[in-house]
Amino acid sequence: SSFALVSLLVICLLIVLFIYRRFRVSKQRNEELDYLASRDPLTNVYNRRSLFELMNIYFSKPELDEEYCIIMADIDYFKSVNDTYGHSVGDTVICGVSNILQSSVRQNDIVARYGGEEFCILLRQVSQAQATRIAENMRLKIEQSLFEDVSVTCSFGITSILFDAKTPIELINQADIALYRSKSLGRNQVTVWHNMLE
Ligand code: GH3
Ligand code: MG
Ligand code: MG
Repeated sequence: SSFALVSLLVICLLIVLFIYRRFRVSKQRNEELDYLASRDPLTNVYNRRSLFELMNIYFSKPELDEEYCIIMADIDYFKSVNDTYGHSVGDTVICGVSNILQSSVRQNDIVARYGGEEFCILLRQVSQAQATRIAENMRLKIEQSLFEDVSVTCSFGITSILFDAKTPIELINQADIALYRSKSLGRNQVTVWHNMLE
């Protein structure tokens, strides 16, 4: 009977081990799927959906960060890059620009691909003045880079949560209005939102 008991124990142990391994594998698989669902496949930065998820969290817990800023960045005359060099070079330019944006921020900041050649960056605990310096640094780096021998520039729009946007969409709209101003002033520049721009 002690042999039967030991056998039973061994079988139980094996079953527990088996279940634990299955659990570990499925947990890892879920983490991989979460990662893929939150990223843009071309550039590997966050996608628009995860940007809004994060911003919704911020808006529901205003105590999380005292101040944060949004930078919208859009590549200038990008259509002519595609038209002149082809779509695949265009893709390389988008990836190169996104790498520069990502390498210009801290690990906790969020860089997201907002549209085709448009990015949205969420900077935590920075003032509008600091965000402007960061965007200016991005602008310079992009201007000075070559992507497969192609050079491009980027226009930027900035807003801060202290400018009283009530929803994530309103915050993004402010940055978008500032970006539009950069475009209309001749591109390759940084503009901070203020209510007169509306
Ligand atoms: P502006 O200076 O006003 O921003 O002009 P633009 O030409 O950059 O703006 P527009 O919105 O007219 O063109 C954006 C182009 O980006 C059009 C679209 O074909 C291209 N595009 C969008 N997504 C991708 C992509 O994933 N890869 C490539 N290669 N091109 C893309
Ligand atoms: Mg553009
Ligand atoms: Mg665009």
